[in-house]
Amino acid sequence: MRTLLAALAASTILAGAAEAATVYPLDRATILAGSPFDFKVEFAETVKPEDVKVTVNGQDYKAVFGSEAAFVETEKGKDDKALGSALILRKLVLAKPGDYKVEATAGNDTRTVTWTVYGTPAAAKAKNVIFLLGDGLSMAHRTGARLMSKGMHEGKADGRLNLDDVDLRAFVGTSATDAVATDSANTMSAYMTGHKTAVNALGVYADRTPDSLDDPRVETIAEALRRTGKKSVGIVSTAEIEDATPAALVSHTRRRADKAEIVGMIYDVKPEIVLGGGSAYFLSKERPGSKRKDDKDYIQLFKDAGYTLATDKNELAAASGTNTGKILGLFHPGNMDTLLDREFLKKGTVAEFPNQPGLVEMTSAALEQLAKNPDGFFLMVEGASIDKMSHPMDWERAMVETIEFDKAIGVAREFQKNNPDTLIVVTGDHTHGVSIIGTIDDNKPGPEMREKVGVYDKAGFPNYEDKNGDGYPDSVDVSRRLAIFANNFPDYYETFRPKLDGPFVPAVQNEKKEYVANEAYKDVPGAVLRIGNLPKSSDTAVHAVDDVVLQADGPGAEGFHGYMEQSDIYRVLADAFALAPQAN
Ligand SMILES: [Zn+2]
Repeated sequence: MRTLLAALAASTILAGAAEAATVYPLDRATILAGSPFDFKVEFAETVKPEDVKVTVNGQDYKAVFGSEAAFVETEKGKDDKALGSALILRKLVLAKPGDYKVEATAGNDTRTVTWTVYGTPAAAKAKNVIFLLGDGLSMAHRTGARLMSKGMHEGKADGRLNLDDVDLRAFVGTSATDAVATDSANTMSAYMTGHKTAVNALGVYADRTPDSLDDPRVETIAEALRRTGKKSVGIVSTAEIEDATPAALVSHTRRRADKAEIVGMIYDVKPEIVLGGGSAYFLSKERPGSKRKDDKDYIQLFKDAGYTLATDKNELAAASGTNTGKILGLFHPGNMDTLLDREFLKKGTVAEFPNQPGLVEMTSAALEQLAKNPDGFFLMVEGASIDKMSHPMDWERAMVETIEFDKAIGVAREFQKNNPDTLIVVTGDHTHGVSIIGTIDDNKPGPEMREKVGVYDKAGFPNYEDKNGDGYPDSVDVSRRLAIFANNFPDYYETFRPKLDGPFVPAVQNEKKEYVANEAYKDVPGAVLRIGNLPKSSDTAVHAVDDVVLQADGPGAEGFHGYMEQSDIYRVLADAFALAPQAN
């Protein structure tokens, strides 16, 4: 009877307590032992410090955490709105693996979360990790790249991509802490820190205050490698190097758009190899083309830190021959042009920047330098424009980018052959709502273009050719091409044809700031207006929530299996490198 009464009393208290407080890291967080992170409690109301009680596994938190959190009486929101009190403890380190039940209470406001702190084996499994990230890499990109690069007859592919021979390991869920849908920031940040976060956030939990740079931080893999050893770090991307995916290796911000600040964060960590676009954010404000609002000249700062600067393909080749081991390669003020534009069509901004290296050259140059470190390295290679071309539904460019990404995988595989202590991971950060449904055959009777779409047995096979054997179709504008369609779109004109004049711009803004079909494509023969199924604020197709596929080969790859959250990927990387301190 006493037990029953006690239970009733306990449940009454629980019912009365509002779970309004938020604790960061969030419930179910997994944390690498020894890895510093910021602890924060946000209470819903302004409370007195003496009313705040925080316990960890039933003990006062100060005993377990080894230090005292700062108390903020009233946090301020937008327009100075009072948000309630907070506790903040920066750079907390938990060295001992196990479950940590954290209970924070102030008056009626209470929150309980449980974190799992994990260790790693004592011995590293891999010396090097090459993490190849196809941004937006979906099933259709894989299939499309294979069909366009290798061809097919009688239903069997005429060749294999490098992708096709990396072991399939896991499906990865990519949702964010605030939404089922994701962006590159949240997913890549989860891969590179082990913590899921909100859409647009990098290396932080997204807190309630408006400042994007004060949010509770978690350690990135590059920082963990600096803390624990002497491995080199390389970042290669065809995007702006301060774009979300490459930024995730080093950055801490609630806003991926804080690109000028992100350059400073790259500089703070100083990855040995930094290759990509985005030079506009490295130039001080008075320099032409600068996107900075301050006087910081990061190109000079990197040079002063011993980096060789490369601004085109030739300079990259020359820099690879030097022995400084540190290269800053910035080949475009923004995102680099796609391979289809660089090598074939000479559209986009290729006339202005004619000598950009591709992902293959950048990956080779990075590996040549990084391999010199006897302690090994972590290299991230991003095929960024798979995503950047899938948004505007420019499928030919997206597929050709996937072929180039596949060739970069080939470079990594070749390196692995000679360096079997290298773990290779190949994955995407989210998918797109895209599928291949057959072919579009110009020789089918029209006049409407939709009558030329061949499905089932009427699809036949596409007639791309690769006569010079470079792995790329000699032309994407063939008479029987792949029929690739998105399942989500703004209003746009479907032309059923490759965009030979430059990347597709499906929608443009009208006076009401709504995105409407771009009239520039209205007169393409056979073009039809498609009414969008997305809000009118969407200028392009969006990311899909579907799982991504993760492939991996090499020491430690067995750690990836089944369904995984994107935050679980980090633990396998930490295991491969044995990043946790060992109990002695
Ligand atoms: Zn995207």
